[in-house]
Amino acid sequence: MSSSDSNLRGQGAGQTTSPGPILLLGAPGVGKGTQAKELIKVWGVPQISTGDLLRGNVAQGTELGKTAKAIMSRGELVPDTLVNEMVAVRLTQPDAANGYILDGFPRTLVQANWLDGRLAAQSGLLPVVAVSIKVDYNQLLRRITGRRNCPVCQTIYNLYGKPPAKEGYCDVDGAALVQRADDTEKVFEERMRAYEALTAPVVEHYRAAGRFAEVDGDRPILEIAAGIVAAVAGLRK
Ligand code: AMP
Repeated sequence: MSSSDSNLRGQGAGQTTSPGPILLLGAPGVGKGTQAKELIKVWGVPQISTGDLLRGNVAQGTELGKTAKAIMSRGELVPDTLVNEMVAVRLTQPDAANGYILDGFPRTLVQANWLDGRLAAQSGLLPVVAVSIKVDYNQLLRRITGRRNCPVCQTIYNLYGKPPAKEGYCDVDGAALVQRADDTEKVFEERMRAYEALTAPVVEHYRAAGRFAEVDGDRPILEIAAGIVAAVAGLRK
C-alpha cells in the first residue's frame, strides 16, 4: 500500500463505519467511476453506477438493455421511470443496507425527487450527501476521448493521463483494452448538453438542501478521494 493510500484509509477509519447514501455528481469524465472505486475501499459500501448497470443490461440483451442501447449511443438520457425502477431493484440488495455510493444517479430532478422520497420513507440510514466533482470542459474532452477500459478487471486508463505500460493492454491482467462506444467527441458533446440541461439543476437541488460538497477534480486521484472523504465527514458532524 502506498503512503497516500494508507493516509486515505486513515481518514476513512475516523468516520462512522458507514457513510450512508453518497451521491457522486458531475459531468461525463470528471472521474465519478474512478473516485467511487477508491471510496469503496475506504467505506466498504458498494458502488452503484447506473451507467454500468445499463451497460450490463445492454450486454445481456434484456428489454431494458434493448431500449437503452440506442439512447446511450446518442449520449441522451434513458427515461427516468426505467432508470428509477432499475435503481429500486439494486437498492434492495443486502449489500446496500447501510450505505452506498451512487455514481451517475440522480441525473434529473425527477430522479432526485424520486430518490429523496424513497430515502425519506426509509428509517435507519444517515441523511444523503451529494458530492459534485468539477473539471473544466477541455480537460473533460481529453479524459473522455482518451479513456480506455479493461473489460476483465474494469481498471480505467487514460491515453494522456494514465496510460497502460503496454499500449492497448491492461497492466493488471493483460486483457486488450476497449473504448466505450459513447466516448467519442461527437457523443461527448451531446452528453455535455444533457448534463447542462438536466443534471446541473440536480447539483443546485442538493446545494440548496445543504447536504452538498464540491471538490476540484483536476488533482491526483487519491488527493480528490481524500477531499471527498473529508467533505463527507464535515457534513456528517
Ligand atoms: P455513465 O457511465 O454514467 O457516463 O452513463 C452512460 C450513459 O448511460 C449516459 O450517457 C446515459 O445514456 C445513461 N445513463 C446513466 N445513468 C443514467 C441516469 N441516471 N439517467 C439516465 N440515463 C443514464
